[in-house]
This record gives sequence, C-alpha cells and structure tokens, in this order.
Amino acid sequence: MLKLQDLLFKTQYLRPQDQKILKEAYLLAEKAHKGVFRKSGEPFIQHPLNVALKLANLNLDRPTLVAALLHDLPEDTKVELKEIEDKFGKEVAFLVSGVSKLGYIRLKSGRFLKKKERQIEILKRMFLAMASDLRVILLKLADRWHNLETLKYLPLEKQEKIAQETLEIYAPLAYRLGMGEMKGILEDLAFPYAYPKEYQWLSKLAIPKYKIREKYLKKVKKVLEEEIKKAKIKAEIHGRAKHFFSLYKKLEKYDYDLSKIYDLVALRILVKRVSDCYAVLGIIHKMWKPLLGRIKDYIAVPKPNGYQSLHTTVFCLEGKIVEFQIRTYKMHEWAEYGIAAHFLYKEKKTLPSSEFPWLEELVALQKKISKQEFLKGLKLDIFKDRIFVFTPKGDVVDLPEGASPIDFAYEIHTEVGHQCVGALVNGQIVPLNYQLKNGDIVKVLLKKGGFPKRDWLKFVRTQKAKERISQYLSAKEREA
Ligand code: MN
Repeated sequence: MLKLQDLLFKTQYLRPQDQKILKEAYLLAEKAHKGVFRKSGEPFIQHPLNVALKLANLNLDRPTLVAALLHDLPEDTKVELKEIEDKFGKEVAFLVSGVSKLGYIRLKSGRFLKKKERQIEILKRMFLAMASDLRVILLKLADRWHNLETLKYLPLEKQEKIAQETLEIYAPLAYRLGMGEMKGILEDLAFPYAYPKEYQWLSKLAIPKYKIREKYLKKVKKVLEEEIKKAKIKAEIHGRAKHFFSLYKKLEKYDYDLSKIYDLVALRILVKRVSDCYAVLGIIHKMWKPLLGRIKDYIAVPKPNGYQSLHTTVFCLEGKIVEFQIRTYKMHEWAEYGIAAHFLYKEKKTLPSSEFPWLEELVALQKKISKQEFLKGLKLDIFKDRIFVFTPKGDVVDLPEGASPIDFAYEIHTEVGHQCVGALVNGQIVPLNYQLKNGDIVKVLLKKGGFPKRDWLKFVRTQKAKERISQYLSAKEREA
C-alpha cells in the first residue's frame, strides 16, 4: 500500500510550499474518503494516491497533482467543488471538474447511452477538454491506468466494457499525443479483459520466445557495443520487448505466424546527436546486411504524432533477423512521454518545436501566439483556435476556427468537397458558409457531377480547401 510519504518523496522537484499544499490535499481526501473501500479491499484513498504518483513520475505540476488527489471528491463524497475552489484555487477546481465531467455520461433522462453514442460523447468531451487544458487528459489517462490495474476486482461485464473503451478511445488518444509508452501500458492492461482467449493463446506462444530472443540479443548487443565504441560514439543499447497487445495487432496482419515478427524484442540505441544516429545506422549496415524495404527514416519524415527514429532490420548474428531502432535521447523522451515530456524540464520555457514537425505545424496554425504564451502556466494551448467536429459515424475532424462545411468536406476527400451541395449540422440544414462549432456533427449532402464554386474561396479556412478549389477552377479555365 502506498503512503503519503511515497508521493512526497517522488515530488521533491516541487518547492517545499507546494509540497505542503499537496499534503493538505491528501489529508482532505483521506478524511473525505474515510471508511470507504475499493472493490480490491483497499481503502479508497489508495486510488487518488496512485493516480497522483503516476503523474508525479511524469513530473507534472502542483495543480495537476493536487487535482489528482481530489479528483473523486465531488462525485463520491460530501466535499463539493466550491470547497475545493475555496481551499485550493480556481485552477485545481477547474481540473477536478474537467476529470469528473469526463467520467459520467448519461442522457438527460438518466438513461445510460448506448455504446457507440457513449464513445462519441467521450471523444467529444475529451477533445473539448484538450482544447481548454491538456492536463485534464493526462489526469484522465492516469485515472484510467490505475482503474485498469485493479480491474480484476470488478464484475465481468464491467471489466469488458472498461477494457474495450480503453482500447478504442484512451490508448489511441495517448498515441495521438505522442505518449507511446502510456499507450502500450494501457493496451497491455486492457488486453486480457477485452480478448481473454486471444490473450491466453498469445502468452502461451510468445512468452518462451521472448526469453530465447532476449538471450540471443545479449550477444548481439555485445558485438555492436564494441563496434560503436571503436567509432568513438557514445551510445546506450537496450533490449526492448514489444508490448503484448501491439504484438497481437501485428500478428493479425501476418497470418498469426510469430516467426514473421522480427521486432518481438528489438534493440534500441540511444545517442546524443542526430548525426550519431546515421553513423550508427552505417555501422550496423556495414556489419550486417539490411532487409530491403525495412529501413525507415522517421527522423527525416516523422510520424504524424511526432515520433522520430531510424528503424532498420538486418540479417544479424547466426543469420537471424533483428530490428534496430536508433534515436537521440530527446527523440526517445518524446516517444515515451509525448506531450507530457514538456513538463519534464520545468526551467524550459519554449517548446522544441523545430525538432517536432508535428508540433511545429500546430504552432504555425496559430502564428499569433508566442512560444512564451504557448507554455503559459504549464498549460498547453495547442488546440486553441482549433475546433473538433464529428462525422455521423463519430470520427473526429480537426479544423481551424471559423471553418465551414466545405472545409469539412474537403478534409474528408477532395471529391466529397467538389460535389458538396449542402450540409446538415446536428440534423439541421445550414448554409455552406456556416461557421462550425466544437462538437458539431456534420453530414454533407452530395450531388453527382457537382463542382466547386468560385465564391467558396471567400469563406473557406483550410489550406487544403483553398488549394483544391483553386486547382479545379484553373483547370476548368484552361480547358475553356
Ligand atoms: Mn478516479
């Protein structure tokens, strides 16, 4: 069982006066939850304490940790939001209300929503929360993480629901925010409950293989370490077992044939500089022949969520196939913690956006906001000036503020844009220059043979829509 001391020990990066407030929050929560026990049999306070500790491991700021300790008070105890605001301030109260609002979703009548509706609703609220303060999402992810760790004590039906929801919403969201490690952890915790049979099958099959593989890679590591040393490059090499659920997803694509998976355990090489990454890649390829088409340069072309690394797969010692991932420490930090990595170095005032083109893009979207303001009060406003709307199926479309149904249509597909003749927003017919709002559900009406009009250019906001319309119009003019 955790104690307050564990949290205080982990939060030595805070100022003493901040730790004092943390302690006060703990005492309030402990008192309010007194006599209440989790299904696991532990005193309830263990839950908020665990959530706070997970966030302390990400070096999050004081308001977030205080909110973590208090997050279940308004829902489960007599302590109301007003009291939290009086004692700990507006910021903490805002974070707590953000987390609770994400938790309970019911129709006005009190009837629970159906699964699909519920998921759309969660997504909607998550994106809206993200738009106002990313820390709400980090809190929610940590809350879910601990709930998954104690899932075995819940009734079967609930286990499955929570596990599915994790795989469909929370893990992808963590991934989108660049938090690869968080995504892997959440998925692996949910996997046995969401797909019990598949999990059983895989663990029986894969666990012995993991062990053999790890032994073999120790040899590879030794050989490679020596070569890198000769080249006078400083590097750290780690074996990296693939997360279980992501292995399962991959197997689906490879006829469930484990021998076709080369990165069951990969070797990860961490270096200081980008140039070292390419140098190490050269060393590996000089020793072992690479497999064609398996060299991936995510440094030059990062993944959309900002992930950067060099990947290569080679015929290694004893002719066995091995995958290597090479990256700088900074890239590694992003790969593991994503958005949360920016909270790790509190003295840093600017975002290293040049290293993360994905972030840079977002920054470019809001030129007016300076980098200083960007990280104001450890609150990332990268989603400000953006709106999130939904397709009728519940997919999220991310648009600039003031975007119209035409922008939405081009975001779906160029042809959908070209043929758009009308739109329904939340079931109501709207004009094509209607300004969409956060959370709108948009359905576009199409007409075969429809084509873009010149006056659309007056109100569309996205670069994509502008370009596609102009391209179409100038092509038509040339024809004429
Ligand atoms: Mn909770």
